[in-house]
Amino acid sequence: MNNKHIDTQCLHAGYTPKNGDPRVVPIYQSTTYVYDSTEAVGAVFDDPTLSLIYSRFANPTVMAVEAKIAEMEGGIAAMCTSSGQAASMLSILNLCSCGDSFISTAQIYGGTINLFAFTLKKLGIECIFVDNDASEDELHAAFKPNTKAVFGETLANPALTVLDIEKFARVAHAHNVPLIVDSTFATPALCRPIDFGADIIVHSTSKYMDGHALQVGGVIVDSGKFDWKSGDFPGLTEPDESYHGIIYTETYGKLAYILKARMQLMRDFGVYPAAHSAFLLNLGLETLALRMRQYCGNALMVAEYFEKSDKIESVNYPGLKNNKYYELAQKYLKGASGVISITVKGGRESAVRFMDALELASNEVHVADIRTCVLHPASATHRQLTDEQLIAAGINPGMVRFSVGLEHADDILADIEQALAKV
Ligand SMILES: *Cc1c(COP(=O)(O)O)cnc(C)c1O
Repeated sequence: MNNKHIDTQCLHAGYTPKNGDPRVVPIYQSTTYVYDSTEAVGAVFDDPTLSLIYSRFANPTVMAVEAKIAEMEGGIAAMCTSSGQAASMLSILNLCSCGDSFISTAQIYGGTINLFAFTLKKLGIECIFVDNDASEDELHAAFKPNTKAVFGETLANPALTVLDIEKFARVAHAHNVPLIVDSTFATPALCRPIDFGADIIVHSTSKYMDGHALQVGGVIVDSGKFDWKSGDFPGLTEPDESYHGIIYTETYGKLAYILKARMQLMRDFGVYPAAHSAFLLNLGLETLALRMRQYCGNALMVAEYFEKSDKIESVNYPGLKNNKYYELAQKYLKGASGVISITVKGGRESAVRFMDALELASNEVHVADIRTCVLHPASATHRQLTDEQLIAAGINPGMVRFSVGLEHADDILADIEQALAKV
């Protein structure tokens, strides 16, 4: 299945029914699993990869989706989480302890900035922020002896900066640390960061992967390529006291990172998704490649329309030729995805007036939905940030994040036209 096209993987990867099995992956609505003897249960505790213990660690419905996403990303294995936030959190906690640091671009999702700059800081983990466009020298200079990872977003929400994945991977690897990429806005249909050197991928599956605004979820994908013994990762290369002294790199080799995340962190934090959520996510994934093509096509038309409007001060969409990230988008992405950010002339007030006048597009705290939706980051997702942090995250107070859906482009454009007329 590994060399099949993504359209095919979307439908077939992760679940291959045998003779007489259900065509669709069933919802295994069960917290637990039955064994013939105490000895059999003991054996599963010795090696949880043998079978299932409890649905806080693994569940067959969720595992089918994990296998599908791993294959789509070109990774070795994946672990779903109950939210994108949980995926980002575990991706870092799997490497960093109190006293460690990691590097992240500043142009990331607002919720991730909160997690990195405030909550992880309280746990004694420092996030060193760098610019998405930092030079190779600037990136090298940001490293400290205790730096354990580098983090960035393929196509950042909502800044829409494009990460130079090869550059970030090269610098991270020169310091023997992995590159973790949040690829939520790109999805594997538009970019497979592992092909460009990224080591760990995280997603909020609540966005395009689900697409229908049905479930909140996340996933961590392990490329299996990073050599943990080359760096300073005692959590992976030394005995885990909480797991009868297991050494993840020795017992699980290339699967060390993703199995530690499951056996230790998932066990302790308990942020595994419900089987029903995974089932819904799987339905979304089945049409991901098809939908992404349509999002990209619609969004380009909408971005070109905004560009011509005299009510709009600026349009940020990396699919436009004059965009700062056009070249990087051409290199890394098969399309610039469905999110456009615009600044309406007249700042915050005009932006709000435009949004409130939209009829087809809904005002909601979401993005990457099948339906067109809009959001004002400065008064919603990024409300907690100071103006300085807003600017650093690439957000103008008058900016509107326009998430183009799959309605007919003519209807989306007509809605924009009537709303702009009221600004
Ligand atoms: C939404 C989002 C998250 C957080 O995901 P949730 O599923 O809402 O917890 C993380 N990263 C990016 C890029 C996002 O868009």
